[in-house]
Amino acid sequence: SPALPCDIVLFGGLGDLAQRKLIPALFQLDQFGLLHSSARILVMARKTMTTEAYKAHTLKRWQGMATSLTDEQRNDHDALEVFFSKVQYSSLDFQTPAGYEAIVDWLQARPASTNGEVGDKPVPQVYYLATPPSVYGDICCQLDRAGCISERSRIVVEKPIGHDLESSCEINEQLATFFDERQIFRIDHYLGKETVQNLIALRFANNLFASQWNHEQISHVEITVAEKVGIEGRWGYFDKAGQLKDMVQNHLLQVLCLIAMDPPAELSADCIRDEKLKVLKALRPITPNQIGTHIVTGQYTAGTVDGAHVPGYLEEDDANTHSNTETFIALKVEIDNWRWAGVPFYMRTGKRMPLKSSEIVIHFKPAPHYIFDPDQKHMLGNKLIIRLQPDEGISLRMLTKDQGLDKGMRLHEGVLELTFSEVFQSQRTQSAYERLLWEIIKGEQYLFVRRDEVANAWRWVDSLVETLAHANVKPKRYSAGSWGPVASIAMIAMDGLTWYEDA
Ligand code: NAP
Repeated sequence: SPALPCDIVLFGGLGDLAQRKLIPALFQLDQFGLLHSSARILVMARKTMTTEAYKAHTLKRWQGMATSLTDEQRNDHDALEVFFSKVQYSSLDFQTPAGYEAIVDWLQARPASTNGEVGDKPVPQVYYLATPPSVYGDICCQLDRAGCISERSRIVVEKPIGHDLESSCEINEQLATFFDERQIFRIDHYLGKETVQNLIALRFANNLFASQWNHEQISHVEITVAEKVGIEGRWGYFDKAGQLKDMVQNHLLQVLCLIAMDPPAELSADCIRDEKLKVLKALRPITPNQIGTHIVTGQYTAGTVDGAHVPGYLEEDDANTHSNTETFIALKVEIDNWRWAGVPFYMRTGKRMPLKSSEIVIHFKPAPHYIFDPDQKHMLGNKLIIRLQPDEGISLRMLTKDQGLDKGMRLHEGVLELTFSEVFQSQRTQSAYERLLWEIIKGEQYLFVRRDEVANAWRWVDSLVETLAHANVKPKRYSAGSWGPVASIAMIAMDGLTWYEDA
């Protein structure tokens, strides 16, 4: 059986992340036979309650929130019974030493029959910090003091790792005081998405694309991550961060790295992360005189999304009406290396867009000499579209001859389509957190962000923040339900292009 044993201590088990993503994902792993019968989960949060009450609380919250669980899964009482028999709840104030002894006792209580071992491998002890980063340091210190850190420990932390290079270094330093890098799992949940991992298969298993993947064949690349939602009541957090720090520093740069990196020598965590790091190091800083041509920021005003009126950013609950935080950003990114010289990567991400969609469009250069109808010349250039969400899949837009005697050699744009839900009909797609938790239990790090990646991503983002601050740039307004400020359309139009959705 592939099932693996593990002891997981989940800090912050009553928080949004734990309730909405982590507990459902652990339940699904169990339901599909991947958690060993001896696997145990210790949930810790501030509130005092019994394990039974925690179960009831969680099941109740699942009724009212969107999780990765289907109705059928949510109502599978037998599976829920089995899963919650592995769960224990214990209350703890993370910042006070008293109470950490409960973790020691719990760890030591692993049944003697397995004696901490199943087969000949030590059972991993995973500390998942689903907490604000401000308590990471305290938790690490207290775990250390209580003697809970050993060779078999792993620690999992969420984004954001800090809010700039300096604060991220502080957090990483705290973690490194107690854990080796091979024990630290920094989550970027985009790396848990099936299609994001598929980028590796697409690029390095298909020589058809591998040989085309460079400045000679590709004219430009677009990455769009559009959200329909606004700030979902998280003004306090979001207003300090903004879209650049909240989305670009992690998700968009990780996707960019997977598209742009060189082939790794092998599929190992460090080989892959070495190649991603080289891309981050090669990102060209954007200078103040490139504002408008390489960077555009926006902030949504009231508008209509899905036919419903929604308030503007400055009218959200708790809003400070003078905020200049960006809820949209468009960038023209250049990568200073041999493979990508002269190939712009246009990235944009925003809230309150018309659609929830994450998509990569690779635009190939047109054939060097054109022999067809002059009025069809604009159709040239194949496009490879990789949809990360929704409706994960890949399509290749190609030109063929139009049918019909009257059409002569008119061209027709057709699509080769690979929709994953159709290809893998009988299988369900795992949620990103399910996949990430499974890799943590296995001890595989290739889907997690290494310390030097975090630092280099922040270094580049900090330089953008400085550029914007230096020029005192205010975000341009855009109506909720639109694709962002007109300036972002103008930005790409200066290069004679349009964003893919607009084409
Ligand atoms: P949250 O809802 O505020 O939950 C945090 C949890 O930690 C709560 O249960 C809170 O308990 C507990 N906690 C905090 N300080 C504590 C202390 N000193 N002692 C005991 N318990 C304490 O936050 P979240 O949204 O789940 O996010 C958790 C982490 O994941 C954050 O770092 C966040 O940035 C990151 N993240 C979240 C999401 C998401 O979808 N929610 C996505 C990406 C990343 P109380 O309620 O009693 O304070």
